[in-house]
Amino acid sequence: MTTTKTADVEGTLVQIYSLAAAGAEIVRCTCNSQDAADGLRQIVPRSPVPIVADIHFHVEMALAALESGVAALRLNPGNLRKPEEIKLVAREAGARGVPIRIGVNAGSLHPDFAKEFGGITAEAMVASALHELELFHEVGFDDVAFSVKASNVALMIAAYRLLAEKVDHPLHLGVTEAGPLPGGLIKATAGIATLLAEGIGDTIRYSLTADPIEEARAGRQLLEAMGLRERKGLDLIACPSCGRAEIDVIGVAKAAQSALEERNLPIQVAVMGCVVNGPGEAREADLGIAAGRKKGHLFIKGHIVRVVPEDEMVEALVAEAEQLVAEGIEARLAAADSSAEAEAEADRQALLAEKGDDANASEDRIELIRRTVASGRAGDRRD
Ligand code: SF4
Repeated sequence: MTTTKTADVEGTLVQIYSLAAAGAEIVRCTCNSQDAADGLRQIVPRSPVPIVADIHFHVEMALAALESGVAALRLNPGNLRKPEEIKLVAREAGARGVPIRIGVNAGSLHPDFAKEFGGITAEAMVASALHELELFHEVGFDDVAFSVKASNVALMIAAYRLLAEKVDHPLHLGVTEAGPLPGGLIKATAGIATLLAEGIGDTIRYSLTADPIEEARAGRQLLEAMGLRERKGLDLIACPSCGRAEIDVIGVAKAAQSALEERNLPIQVAVMGCVVNGPGEAREADLGIAAGRKKGHLFIKGHIVRVVPEDEMVEALVAEAEQLVAEGIEARLAAADSSAEAEAEADRQALLAEKGDDANASEDRIELIRRTVASGRAGDRRD
């Protein structure tokens, strides 16, 4: 959602373009005055993404937003309460083929529902949403999406689960007023991801007390992490570091992240603190680097392709990332330094000899897991 005054057409469009570049696929702007509605009239045709008008108290603003050509409206049943006004908006939206999101918010729940259900509960929120739908149905309007947001994550999850049982309409997910980072990010992700994993939700919004670009970025990253959107940008994975680390993993990961983000390369890159476990643990990454014996072992899909001096790790990683995106994995594997695998293995063995066996005892653990699984299967067969 934009944070500019909607009447400020140029400022709002700059923000909309930035949001779209950060991954937003729909942008909402407030329509709280005639100036805002006039602004929307100019913004809508120039926007790279559909614009939704946010309406709170005034029916006139809903009608003005429809006149301005927005792609959808969001109505808050707790704020726009008169049935005749609600039906008028639905009729006008229907005439234009414009959908409406019924956006219930725990903080502004219609007091009648809070009273009937003994407080702000999931049942009260869903009842408010369904009541609004009934009013829409009275005028033959059904082009509806819903949201039942709350700042309380458990309440929000319960409300959406209940609503999903009752309607087939699209659901827009959000933890409202989640707050500043990092707590807001955690709350929003807990609520949204839980529901998405259950197959509930069609659109999402992060409501953070932060630059709205952060909201768009977070939403995009969540969808990419859950496999619901193709990766558009960088996915940097890095080990958490431990006593075995041969470099400042946090510093190198940050330097790599900022250099790679600047270039906007759509790949998964791993930064690993040591060569003992690093390349193996990050073998699924497109590209990675692991530190050891003052060197960086550069690997593509787990195969060592080059060994570079430690102080050139970030540069080498960035250069390889650019070539990888330009030429593809097969071509870069074919261009690997033929002595790199052997040199890397020698470093790994030397480190193991110096510092003892694999700190995480991964080989032993994998063997133990295999034995446990195998004995479990044998047990299943006996049952
Ligand atoms: S063992 Fe190596 S790769 Fe794993 S956390 Fe420690 S430093 Fe990082």
